[in-house]
Amino acid sequence: SDIGSQKDRVVTEEEWLQKWETGNIGFHKEQVHPLLQKYLDVLLNGRSGLRIFFPLCGKAVEMKWLADMGHSIVGVEVSEQAVKDFFTEHSLPYIEEPVPEISGAKMFQSTSGNISLYCCSIYDLSSSTVGKFDGVWDRGALVAVNPQDRQRYVSLMITLMEKKSSYLLVTVSYDPNKHKGPPFYVPESEIKSLFG
Ligand code: SAH
Repeated sequence: SDIGSQKDRVVTEEEWLQKWETGNIGFHKEQVHPLLQKYLDVLLNGRSGLRIFFPLCGKAVEMKWLADMGHSIVGVEVSEQAVKDFFTEHSLPYIEEPVPEISGAKMFQSTSGNISLYCCSIYDLSSSTVGKFDGVWDRGALVAVNPQDRQRYVSLMITLMEKKSSYLLVTVSYDPNKHKGPPFYVPESEIKSLFG
């Protein structure tokens, strides 16, 4: 298949931490993603005060943008550096606490309480820890997941969604034979079969 060259590729957590340590974070953007601005109405669907989830959040500036609109944000990110940089770069004071249900995990929360970032692997989360969400912003997340973990990731995401939630997903279209990823190439047909 056209994604045969990528399907066995694995980027380890260690490699992600290293990218953050060495500043190899070309995926981070300083401006709010134009597609989030364009489709904000689809995400909100007329609702206010939503709980919005950012899987594999990095230090995405969209978290601050949506929090400033009155939504509460929950993110998950393996890199503690990314999480701390997020709060520091936005001059947001935060507290740090252990997560009793998840060994080794920490939760960083803005003192205003509306942004909570879990520092652990997304696969450690469940709705009993983080609850369910009205909306999801998935940019650089499904496409960063190792191809062999996609179904597990999507199944988890589905368990974290409220009945009436909206899920915005950004993917990248390119020739997977010319680039090893991430971002990985996730064809539309696969997105349909993954989410059912
Ligand atoms: N969504 C962000 C970051 C995209 S890059 C943005 O739009 O800028 C993918 C991020 O996922 C990296 O910061 C990496 O450290 C993190 N990551 C990779 N595997 C993870 C996992 N299993 N659980 C949580 N975070 C992970």
